[in-house]
Amino acid sequence: MERFCHYIDGAFEEGAARFSSLDPATGAPWAEMPLASAADVDRAVRAADRAFRSAPWAGLTATARGRLLSRLAELVAGAAPRLAALETRDTGKIIRETSAQIAYVADYYRYYAGLADKIEGAHLPIDKPDMEVWLRREPVGVVAAVVPWNSQLFLAAVKLGPALAAGCTVVLKASEDGPAPLLEFARLVDAAGFPPGVVNILTGGPEAGQALASHPLVARIAFTGGPETARHIVRAAAANLAQISLELGGKSPFVVFDDADLDSAANAQVAGIFAATGQSCVAGSRLLVQRGVKDALLDRLVARAQSVALGPPDRMETEVGPLCTRRQRERIGGLIAQSVAAGARLIVGGTPPDRPGFYFPPTILDCSDAPGAPALREEFFGPVLSVVPFDSEAEALRLANATDYGLAAGVFTRSLTRAHRMVRGLRAGVVWVNTYRAVSPVAPFGGFGLSGYGREGGLAAALDYTAVKTVWLRTSDDPIPDPFVMR
Ligand code: NAD
Repeated sequence: MERFCHYIDGAFEEGAARFSSLDPATGAPWAEMPLASAADVDRAVRAADRAFRSAPWAGLTATARGRLLSRLAELVAGAAPRLAALETRDTGKIIRETSAQIAYVADYYRYYAGLADKIEGAHLPIDKPDMEVWLRREPVGVVAAVVPWNSQLFLAAVKLGPALAAGCTVVLKASEDGPAPLLEFARLVDAAGFPPGVVNILTGGPEAGQALASHPLVARIAFTGGPETARHIVRAAAANLAQISLELGGKSPFVVFDDADLDSAANAQVAGIFAATGQSCVAGSRLLVQRGVKDALLDRLVARAQSVALGPPDRMETEVGPLCTRRQRERIGGLIAQSVAAGARLIVGGTPPDRPGFYFPPTILDCSDAPGAPALREEFFGPVLSVVPFDSEAEALRLANATDYGLAAGVFTRSLTRAHRMVRGLRAGVVWVNTYRAVSPVAPFGGFGLSGYGREGGLAAALDYTAVKTVWLRTSDDPIPDPFVMR
């Protein structure tokens, strides 16, 4: 069994309590993880608070912070094979994807390394002749970052990158499911030379998450996970009014019009729902397809679902690996059964293969006669696609927006004018036209509605970890005129 440690105040700790992590490909324990208590969380936050106020970090120039982030980016790139293998082993995400994802995890750190000394204040053309007024952008303080299990290195990078570029310090809680890659990543943070306490990484469940979100020294919470957990976080943060950004789930529509390139749409739909075994917040889990091309598109998708290489996640040829947890496989099975009971028709998949591990096959449900099915409402977080036909553009838009979520949407059409109309009408934080599941450090990412608020990625994300300080400096040596009048 491999053993992993917490990283608190610059030291690696085995932790008083530990738990076993299961290999999703076999269901067997493979590693020992530390389990953070509320006391561990408290020590980590206090370390982050001390580091925030101490010279080794607070006294660094923004350029020097950028250099540290740059070193971290190169260390991540250099450790890519080990990080990818660990993520695959601990979460079941296929090695093809984890290997590719590490490359852009490094790119996110590079991007924020470059941004560190471009987070500028401003000088105001103030309406008073004897004043100089300028804005300083200062780091907000200690950041609590809480991430789910599906893409931990990536979801950590989109928080750590901007937070550190802005000068904050961070306590990062890895998910209790599949934390190995982040605990390993702590070694790179250490090697990069960040002063002790600037980045602290631990893992644990809801108890540790609550302790972190409610800690009075936390100024800002960056959360990715489900909406129910987000409500706990928001309540916990109310005590000290910490600022929050929430990246939550989705039930994203994937809309295909009859003028679309169907081969391309089918490929993008496969990327949108079967890649990452559907465990993607942006999963295009509702296929809305114009009636005239429904059968032609479904033929392509069913053929792909049936021929997909389902197997061990550590093999390069595997296309669909196991789900991360047994719990997740049971939940998906239950939601499919409820959807079928509500009138959905199972076209392909639906039953886990008879093999060890938490596998679930690509599944397609025709929900034409099941408008109330959970498959059209609930986020499955698995490789399950629900299909609904539509006749007109107006109907497509109505169906697409018939969700409480609003994370992502895909539109496939060759009509430029229709693409623009759809982009305007869709209630989603990201709209992909004739593509799907593309991300970049340059592009903001986040949701509408139950998909959360705040944006990750891009310049605005770094500004989001700063607070503006407005400075007034009087340039006149004359006495202040009338002290009883605001001027
Ligand atoms: P989850 O909400 O159960 O857990 C997320 C994190 O919150 C974990 O670290 C967990 O330990 C912690 N947590 C649990 N209870 C807590 C509490 N009471 N207080 C504080 N922290 C607590 O999510 P999950 O099941 O691990 O992940 C799947 C969810 O994440 C899906 O809804 C998915 O869509 C979402 N997600 C969103 C994005 C995005 O960027 N929008 C990306 C990936 C995943």
